Amino acid sequence: MSFNSLGLSDALLKAINKKGYDKPSPIQEKAIPPILEGKDVLASAQTGTGKTAGFTLPLLQILSEGTTKRNRPVRALILTPTRELAAQIFENVKEYSEFLDIRSAVIFGGVNQRPQAAQIKRGVDVLVATPGRLLDLCNQNILSLASVEIFVLDEADRMLDMGFVRDIERIIKLIPKKRQNLMFSATFSKDIKKLATGILTHPVYVEATPENTTVEVIHQKVFRVAKAKKTGLIIKLISDGNWQQVLVFTRTKHGANNLTKKMISSGITAAAIHGNKSQGARTKALEGFKNGSIRVMVATDIAARGLDIPLLPHVINFEIPNISEDYVHRIGRTGRAGASGEAISLVSADETSFLNDIQKLIGMKIPIEVIEGFEPDPNASTEPVKQNQGRSRSRSPKANAGGNKSGNKNSSKGGTANSGRRSRDRRN
Ligand code: AMP
Repeated sequence: MSFNSLGLSDALLKAINKKGYDKPSPIQEKAIPPILEGKDVLASAQTGTGKTAGFTLPLLQILSEGTTKRNRPVRALILTPTRELAAQIFENVKEYSEFLDIRSAVIFGGVNQRPQAAQIKRGVDVLVATPGRLLDLCNQNILSLASVEIFVLDEADRMLDMGFVRDIERIIKLIPKKRQNLMFSATFSKDIKKLATGILTHPVYVEATPENTTVEVIHQKVFRVAKAKKTGLIIKLISDGNWQQVLVFTRTKHGANNLTKKMISSGITAAAIHGNKSQGARTKALEGFKNGSIRVMVATDIAARGLDIPLLPHVINFEIPNISEDYVHRIGRTGRAGASGEAISLVSADETSFLNDIQKLIGMKIPIEVIEGFEPDPNASTEPVKQNQGRSRSRSPKANAGGNKSGNKNSSKGGTANSGRRSRDRRN
């Protein structure tokens, strides 16, 4: 199928052409036609599937075919859980609308609100936002959502994980009842279904999984190692292998900072990315990582989710996650787009039960290796680390490793009706 046959306007086709896309991805093929027909759509799709264009292209077409009011109130609202995702979606909206008379803006917390407020005042057709800052601006009467025609809820599962359910409910109350709704989620738990029921009207359900990202195609390896020797081992692996682009996961912000410092003092360019980093620092780290000036990005789960980092050859779990599903998302960052990738986990004795949980979840045993000089400590306890952090979540991912989802703290808003989940904001 070609983009031409999807019913998109010449202006959009020109922008797609400029992006260099040959053909629509499966989610685009499935989602664009019903959205163009004005239907509500519930889509199961993760980052990496091309879902952003899947909702942005038809949304832009609908808006450009409608009438624009003189004061240009917000007509399409795209709600997303993290600043990084919001920024990425906004970039996409800008690119796809290059040949249309459409104005767009992005708002998120952690930065001065004044420029965002000024932009809204000048008039914005498409607004990409994270919940906290959106509500702040609405509460200050800087922003009105009374003219929203299309509402997009992106990464709905991550929204719930991050405790945004109340914020979403508040936002829904601020937008007109008569509107088109598009909801995207990587997983469909009971909570998500409940949320969808409250938002969508007779939705068309579409589904797509990222290509070639099943756990089976990723070369996974576990190194059993003494906890105290992990830093030495990771530096050895990266140096000996001369790996140039490595995403490393740690369980805590503190751990990410520590490891980054040690990498740098060993001559490996590295940067940490986590919830305590300023927006500027995160953007800079991500840019450096993408352009190759930073070899290693050390991230916490929440900070890394949803980041569009194509083709990662190496992902290392410095600590394996205590939430098994996070393992699947972490390793889904390698082997993307048909490239082979390697996912390595450094596992100390106290992580044994987490490893068992992960193997159960993915339905396979991960090959184990020990490197001379970095052997596990035979006397170490196998008691799990920080037991209060709980165990695997109950929701079960599909068999694919699914690229990634988003998630990052972008608002101080807490509290959730989503009782089955733990908030990980504070840790990440
Ligand atoms: P997303 O899932 O929206 O985050 O998109 C993942 C990546 O796929 C982004 O880098 C997009 O620019 C890219 N992409 C989106 N649609 C297509 C397409 N039809 N062909 C090739 N790449 C695409």
